[in-house]
Amino acid sequence: MNIHEYQAKEVFRNAGIPVPPGEVAETPEAAEAIAQKLGGRVVVKAQVHSGGRGKAGGVKLASDAHEAREHAEAILGMDIKGLTVETVLITPAEEIDTEAYVGCLVDRAAQSVTFMVSSEGGVDIEEVAHSNPDAIKKLTIDPRYGLLPHEAYWLAAALYDDPSLVKQAAKIIGQLSKAFSAAGASMAEINPLITTPAGDVKAIDAKMSVDDNELFRKPDIAAYRDLSAEPQSETKAREADLSYVKLDGNVGCCVNGAGLAMATMDLVKYYGGEPANFLDIGGSSNPDKVVAALEIITSDPNVKVILFNIFGGITRCDDVANGIVEAMKRIDIKVPLVIRLTGTNEEEGVAILEGAGMSAATSMDEVVERAVALANPA
Ligand code: GDP
Ligand code: MN
Repeated sequence: MNIHEYQAKEVFRNAGIPVPPGEVAETPEAAEAIAQKLGGRVVVKAQVHSGGRGKAGGVKLASDAHEAREHAEAILGMDIKGLTVETVLITPAEEIDTEAYVGCLVDRAAQSVTFMVSSEGGVDIEEVAHSNPDAIKKLTIDPRYGLLPHEAYWLAAALYDDPSLVKQAAKIIGQLSKAFSAAGASMAEINPLITTPAGDVKAIDAKMSVDDNELFRKPDIAAYRDLSAEPQSETKAREADLSYVKLDGNVGCCVNGAGLAMATMDLVKYYGGEPANFLDIGGSSNPDKVVAALEIITSDPNVKVILFNIFGGITRCDDVANGIVEAMKRIDIKVPLVIRLTGTNEEEGVAILEGAGMSAATSMDEVVERAVALANPA
């Protein structure tokens, strides 16, 4: 789950990190009132679950409350990477000397948490990572001890020469580490971490992602969930108790079991196709779940074919077949279905499909090859 900048700032502030104040607004009038309260010179910032807002025109400096209202008018409703801006954060405009990057994430390859810092922070950090990777310093912690003070100093010293700035940054990096662990985060980021002409170090942007599986024991964080800011398909999938991740391809995949879903996506790639999604309909399916799954898959306009790959263990093939037949009645599916059904109650399942004028195969290679061909007509 991603949270908004203003929410991540609240988390960071509670951890002691110096973060300028701010309030959110949903209307230009509210934005103006907040700007007035904050002294006029403010930054108006789009609150969407996406980076690169600055470059997209979603972060604007205002010299007075009236201008803040105008910026809010322009930014509210704006589309940033497919997400509509519903809320803006109004925060005092800071004077900036330098912009640095500080982040940490769960590093699966290292089986730990890796911290990354760069003195070349700001809106071009992706470019820096690409063209000048040496400008980013990395440190993987020992998860038994967490980030140690000397490690935080080492990271901070990679950012600044001035001992006062290093000391402030080391403290902030330590606080970020604590906030990251306490939230059960998978990623936390400050970009930019600024220095001011007065010699202060502050976080003026904040980003955090939290593992969905942590949320049940982190109610404070779970409360930050903003459904309106998430892809509708993923919200719908979660409500239907389906594991769904939208991807960019055109082969819609409906599979039972996460392992088989992964294998299916691999095979789609092997045959030259691109999966449109990861979708695990679970171990014990019922027809309603299949209907929900098909609704979600077909709501993606990229999908050109739907591939069912069902291995009946606990899942019964006849349940899935009933679900497919039911879904065909309830929703207007305009793309071809390619179905593999094998395992528990296979004969019953196939009979149900055939009764409805459909067919099923048993070989995984065969159906995947056919689905890829249908998705990419020569
Ligand atoms: P992002 O583009 O989504 O990462 O949004 P940021 O919050 O990082 O803002 C983008 C850029 O806007 C920053 O790198 C700063 O250069 C600038 N910016 C943001 N807040 C302020 C501010 O308070 N004062 C000034 N002068 N610039 C700011
Ligand atoms: Mn940023």
